[in-house]
This record gives sequence, structure tokens and C-alpha cells, in this order.
Amino acid sequence: MSEYILTIGLEIHIKLKSANKMFCQCKNEQNFDNLVPNTNICPVCTGQPGALPTLSADVLEKALLLGKALQCKINETSRFDRKSYFYPDLPMGYQITQLYHPTNTQGQVSFFLDNYTNERTIHIQDAHMENDTGKMIHAEGQAMLDFNRAGTPLVEIVTLPDFRSSEEVIEFLKELQRIVRYNNIADADLEKGQMRVDVNISVRKSESDPFGTRVEVKNINSFGMIKRAIEHEKARQEKIYEAGETFTQQTRGWDDPKGESYLMRSKEDALDYRYFPEPDLPPLHINDETFKRLNTQEIVIPHNIIKQLNEYGFNKEYINALISDKTILDYFTTILSSLTTWSEWKPEDFAKLIVKRIAWPIAARMKENFATIDTLKFSHRQFNEFIIKAQAGSLMENQLKIIMDEMLSTGKNSEEIIKEKGFDAPAMDNDEIALLAKEIVTENPSIVEQYKGGKTTTIWFFIGQLMKKTWGKTSPKIAQEIFEKLLK
Ligand SMILES: [Zn+2]
Repeated sequence: MSEYILTIGLEIHIKLKSANKMFCQCKNEQNFDNLVPNTNICPVCTGQPGALPTLSADVLEKALLLGKALQCKINETSRFDRKSYFYPDLPMGYQITQLYHPTNTQGQVSFFLDNYTNERTIHIQDAHMENDTGKMIHAEGQAMLDFNRAGTPLVEIVTLPDFRSSEEVIEFLKELQRIVRYNNIADADLEKGQMRVDVNISVRKSESDPFGTRVEVKNINSFGMIKRAIEHEKARQEKIYEAGETFTQQTRGWDDPKGESYLMRSKEDALDYRYFPEPDLPPLHINDETFKRLNTQEIVIPHNIIKQLNEYGFNKEYINALISDKTILDYFTTILSSLTTWSEWKPEDFAKLIVKRIAWPIAARMKENFATIDTLKFSHRQFNEFIIKAQAGSLMENQLKIIMDEMLSTGKNSEEIIKEKGFDAPAMDNDEIALLAKEIVTENPSIVEQYKGGKTTTIWFFIGQLMKKTWGKTSPKIAQEIFEKLLK
């Protein structure tokens, strides 16, 4: 048991899903993989002398929405600053960012831990706008530059050092991803570099101690890597303190295959960015009209939805299935509200019936086929009819499964499938079922022999046959009892 307390703060860059780049009219591509290098550029984003930046309205719009979603204070007046440093992929020789007066400050994000049982809130220092750099590509012994990404809009979210475990970090990042995705602010795919996370890690012995020396770990691009990097860095720092040594503030990179961090630079050789107010851009004033519009704009807070799902008593598998994709969640809420408007059933009772059918097989099948919910072959009305039939209680679980499967493949009405399969026929009596079971036994002498020879798992063959012949009107348990008697 470690006696050290872990303290973590995050800096997260999120690429906004605006139409244009931040300060020019170039298209803001979300994926550069299929784009010929240096084809999506102009004098502004390549820093040509005399070219002046103008803040794109749609970039501001997305940044403000994100501020609202993070429950930030949106400042009436904010400013841009220059962060100067030399690197070949930075054509202007500086990045335009917001250091002194960011647009969004003092926010917070709540999320669940431990499979949606415990709630946690962490605080956001600010969420400021910043333009991205180009890319340096190393190939065939050469270094090449691609400026397609230069000037694309980012928001950097800076949290307070509120995190105490890697689990908290991961669950927070997942909630953040849902926030930007559900509100169409960003795609935030870590692997595509649309979300980049820097982790500030320190350890100390007690909450009342001052913070330990901070180490920033950069270049981590999956949840698994973030978790491993945090655990490794914690152990590394503890070992240093235990040996009675100290270290200076530093930036480290993460080498995932090796499972260890490496020194990039220490505080002594940290860059001096010579920040100063950006002279080419006026202060940003947000007018009343924009505030009014922002106030009426609906923001989806995924955490609140999860809370509601929790109140329905859903298990974590059901919650995961619903929140994995906003369209599936929307499908669920639409069905739920359309059913509860005319029924006397309590919403939570309907909710349970619906989620069961959506989580499996609908959401599972969508995932399997990389399909979206709008490709479903049946309508809302058809799904509602199916749920009503399920609620009535006269169909057995395996029959319901067969119906839903058939609906997914053919788009037929449940009513039609029930007729076709004979599920509406009066229930079979036990004599009838026993007769069918005898038939199956007579038809399969070799398997009977196997069973009697000790291979008792063959009973499942007989059970399957009986389920088929009775169209699922008997339960596997009853079938098993019958065959155990017959095969004695
Ligand atoms: Zn441009």
C-alpha cells in the first residue's frame, strides 16, 4: 500500500469541428490522412508577411458552446496573446493563444466512477482558444513540412490539480469526449490527434503538504497509455523521494513499448515563450445578442443523462450500450417518451423493457456492422408495437428474441412474424411437447447412443431440436427435464 497521494492536473487540446480554420477561410479538415500535403493553405495560415488574422465566427461559436458545456464563466471581454518559439512547423514563429484573458474560465465537470456508482466533480481553470501548428514529416532520410494543419482551431482545457487517481483521469476524459461529441463541438478521437492530453503528475505524503515537484508527461494518445504513464510516473517519483533525493520540475515523454517515461527537458532549459498581447487582433467582445443566443441554446450534459439512467436502475452494460453513441441514446429517449405519453405504466418500467431490447441486439449489431441507427429496417412505430407485445407477457423470452432478430434482418412487423412462426397458436400442452420430444429421440439413434455412452452434453442437441419444433414455446429447462427422463 502506497503512502503517497497522487495529484494530477490535465491540459487537453481539443480540435474544434468548425467549418473553417481559426483565422482564415481555409477548410478545417478533421482528417488529414487523405489530403495531399500543403493543399489546404493560404497566406494567413502559412504566416506570409502582411497577412492578417480574422477570427472565424464559427470557431468562436464552437468555443463558446464548449465553454457553456464545461459550465465555464464566459467572459464578456477576452484577448489573444502571442506565444513565440522557433520550430519549423510553426510558420509564423508564434502561436496565437489566450494566456492572460481567456474567453472561458472557472468551469467544472462531473462524472461517475466505479461503474456509475460514485460521483466526482473536477474544476476547470480555463478553456482557451489556440491555433494548431503544421506537421513535420520524417521520411526517406528527409524532414518535410505539411502546413495543412497549421491554423486549425483548438481549445486547450486546463484543469485544476483535482485528480487523485488514474481512474478519475480516464473517466473524466471519457465524459469530456461525450460532452464534445454529443454537442457536435468536436470528434475528439485520441488516435487521430483530435484530442491530445498532457498530464501533470506529482506525489506528496499528505493532503495538507504542499504539492510535490510537478512532472509533465506529454505525447500520450490512448486511454491505456495515459493510465500506464500515470502509474509509472507515480512509482518513479516515489522511488526518488524514498531514496532521499529530489528532482526539478521537468517535461517527460512516454515510451509505451518500453513502459517508461524519458526526460525531454528540465525546468532550466524550459522555453521562454515571451508572451505578449497579439497586436493583430482586437480584444474579443461578446455582445448581448450572442449571450442571449447562447443562453437559449440547448447543451446536452451526458453526466445528467447517465444520472437519469442510473435512476432507472440500469446496470452498467445497459448504460454503456446507450451512451456509447448519441444516436442510440436519442433512439432510446424517443421510444421511451412516445410510449409513456399514452400508457399508465411508469417510465422506469418501460425504460427497462426498452433498454433490454436496444442494448441487445440492436446496439450490439450496430457496433458489429459499423452501422448507424438510421439504417434500422423497422420504424419507431414497429419497435413500439414490439415493446407493447413484450409488455403484454404472453410471449416467451426466446420468442421475443426470434422476433427481434427477424425484425432486424427483414424489417417485418412483429405481428406478421408472430403469425408466421405460429407464436399466436394456443400454448402446447405437455403431452404434445412430450410427443415431439419422443419423435426427436427416435429420429436420432446415433446421438442417443452417444448420450448413453456418457457424452451427456449431447442433451443440448435434443433441447435445441425441441425448441425449434415448438417455435420456442417451451423453455430450455422444461425441455431438459423431458429429455433426461426419456434418455434414462
Ligand atoms: Zn489558411
